[in-house]
Amino acid sequence: DKVHAPVVILGTGLAGYGVAREFRKHDTETPLILITSDDGRSYSKPMLSTGYTKDTSADDLAQLDAGSMGQQLRASVWTMTRVTEIDTAAQVIKVGDAQTAIHYSKLVLALGAQVIQPPIGGDGAELVYSVNNLLDYDDFRTAMKKNNVRKVCIIGGGLIGCEFTNDLLNGGFEVEVVDPLGHCLPTLLPEAAGKAVQAALEEKGATFHFGPLVTEVNKAEQGVVVSLNNGATITADLVVSAVGVRPRIDLAKASGIETNRGIVTNRLLETSAPNVYALGDCAEVDGHVLVYVAPLMAAARALGQTLAGEPTPVVYPPMPVTIKTPACPVVVAPAMGGVEGAWQIEADGHNVRAEFRDAGGMLLGFALTGEATRAKLELQKALPAILP
Ligand code: FAD
Repeated sequence: DKVHAPVVILGTGLAGYGVAREFRKHDTETPLILITSDDGRSYSKPMLSTGYTKDTSADDLAQLDAGSMGQQLRASVWTMTRVTEIDTAAQVIKVGDAQTAIHYSKLVLALGAQVIQPPIGGDGAELVYSVNNLLDYDDFRTAMKKNNVRKVCIIGGGLIGCEFTNDLLNGGFEVEVVDPLGHCLPTLLPEAAGKAVQAALEEKGATFHFGPLVTEVNKAEQGVVVSLNNGATITADLVVSAVGVRPRIDLAKASGIETNRGIVTNRLLETSAPNVYALGDCAEVDGHVLVYVAPLMAAARALGQTLAGEPTPVVYPPMPVTIKTPACPVVVAPAMGGVEGAWQIEADGHNVRAEFRDAGGMLLGFALTGEATRAKLELQKALPAILP
């Protein structure tokens, strides 16, 4: 029956394991099941883009395997198991071939985000990698070795593209980056700050192509040839695609749960279906899609209490994001979508202090590079909370 049925969490990333841990602080008795389509090893996803700097293999990054996580959480962890259907009326999920059905008392969707696949032609797709989980990371590292890679072409100059650029340069590789927009981290930084990151990475040896789109990747005698829509070509041994991620909403949508950019929730992390919750990269919490670690930790703390019977709304303080480009450190606190304001910028070489303020002078966001990152705490204190 529904009351004695387990709490079920879909996903064992930082959000899934995080909420399981928080739940167990308040409830040690209720049966708990975690289900994941990967191998269930726990790891810190941000470390996937520092692997050459820190010389870490996938096994180095894996903290505990699924069995040990299950023991620690007094939970059953089902690995390599894809959930294909949620019957929100009967409170049942179906896994794999849909032969197995599990009743839940409460269900948590912690399904993460999926990489956006740009429409790229050519016959070189097998040498195009995206790195969004530990298994991808293992494949990527293996391919780098096996193909004797010396030069990598990165598609996308955003957060993940720039972090991989810096990391691969640190690893001694040659790197060329293509982005259709005008500067590094174009959706997060004003131009002056993006140009500072670009200059610092160029000094370390990177080459950037801003403006064009990649149209094709084709096999060459050695590695691949990457074609751009401005007629230029880039030769490389391997390609990393890093054009961004989008919340994984398909399963929720197909199950009749309300979705928008992400799986829609209120501040209690409740979705439109009774006893179904969402958090992490897959969720749109009170209008906010924030695909970073700090928001999912805040959500996990609140939801852990809610699942244990103490309804607790999530609070999002200001949460600046640190971008792991040590050639030019970056801290950015994007302004909330839709707010009106203007950038005020002070620039001195790689050090850029950019403050986004409204007409009344109120600070709404900021972007800091180089030594200007020292102002992080001071500015963070002046920012309004995202969800007070
Ligand atoms: P995920 O870790 O993606 O977990 C999703 C889980 O759902 C997985 O276990 C998957 O197997 C499972 N799943 C999916 N579909 C199904 C299904 N149908 N059935 C069963 N299971 C399913 N953030 C920061 O704040 N700072 C950083 O420095 C930073 N660096 C990053 C660097 C890189 C290279 C990347 C890729 C991301 C980075 N991020 C960073 C973002 C951060 O890592 C993510 O916000 C966070 O890890 C998301 O966790 P999650 O648990 O929501 O999703």
